[in-house]
Amino acid sequence: MKKSLFSFTLPALEKEMESLGHKPYRARQIYQWLYVKNEYDISKMSDLSKDFREFLNENYSVDLPKIIKEQRAKDGTIKLLLEYEDHGKVEAVLMRYDYGNVICVSSQIGCNMGCAFCASGLLKKERNLTSSEMVGEVLIMNRLLREECERVSHVVVMGTGEPFDNYDNVLNFVHIINDQKGLSIGARHITVSTCGLVPGIIKYGDEGIQINLAISLHAPNDEIRKKIMPIASAYPLDKLMEAVKIYEEKAGRRVTFEYIMLKGINDSLSCADQLSDLIRGTLAYVNLIPYNPVKEKPYERSPQSTTKAFADRLMKRGINCTIRKEFGTDIDAACGQLRVKYGGKEK
Ligand code: SAH
Repeated sequence: MKKSLFSFTLPALEKEMESLGHKPYRARQIYQWLYVKNEYDISKMSDLSKDFREFLNENYSVDLPKIIKEQRAKDGTIKLLLEYEDHGKVEAVLMRYDYGNVICVSSQIGCNMGCAFCASGLLKKERNLTSSEMVGEVLIMNRLLREECERVSHVVVMGTGEPFDNYDNVLNFVHIINDQKGLSIGARHITVSTCGLVPGIIKYGDEGIQINLAISLHAPNDEIRKKIMPIASAYPLDKLMEAVKIYEEKAGRRVTFEYIMLKGINDSLSCADQLSDLIRGTLAYVNLIPYNPVKEKPYERSPQSTTKAFADRLMKRGINCTIRKEFGTDIDAACGQLRVKYGGKEK
């Protein structure tokens, strides 16, 4: 199988070219074509010799995923169902914040983490996405945005899948989109979200790159967390908080704790008190997420007044928090819903 040109960081592509007897600057030219000039047809890369273009065409691919479904919401949100060569399907979502265009990228086809409230886990993991496939999600979205003279400015790895269950490909993807000679998406504009895989969190602290880390906490104690997130049995909260402190020290960065508000499950004021005790002493802050109900799941969204009271309580107890803005409420907004609806498995 041909290697994808989208799978290389610039230094890796330079090495690759050198090892094949070509000048390393060829890699920079290719990067320019792919990520600055948006040219995915190798034969049109006009400053490369014909022989070199032929060599590239014979040995490398520049395939992008196919768009199977496209939904656009009134607020500008774009939700895509994408299909790769093996018919594996993922979702990618674009949200318009006032600070930029944020794409929510999937990292796996399906997910094995089994969070009780989440639609993504309804379809088990089929495989990891490669870094080139994740780059493809960004490039396809950029192609649509070019019609409005816009581009993706921020990336959150919060789509289907657990990024730290696909650690190397996700990190390679981050390095590719971060390269200043390529898409040049700033590290501080990139966020990776994990359900709490402790070894991954510790390793991430050593990467020496300023990317953001979000942790899906969703509960203030192990009892509730184990009921809604199976990963809590493998990595209980004391281990998770220890990892967060190690990460903060090593990376010198704070994490964001995501907390879905589930009616009657984790949204009491006593939960807010426990949560503030749990994370006091870290630099972290809390992002309260309105739950997107999933047809197949019994959970309901907390009333707005409950969420507001929860947020007030956290702030009164010295914990910074925000309530997440909602997007695309008129389309299949909840994580993984579109893919579930259109049969992730059917070929
Ligand atoms: N596996 C990673 C990233 C993917 S999920 C993680 O767990 O962080 C991205 C975020 O969306 C997580 O915080 C997840 O818990 C949350 N989420 C999942 N289903 C949701 C739903 N129906 N409504 C709101 N948020 C949801």
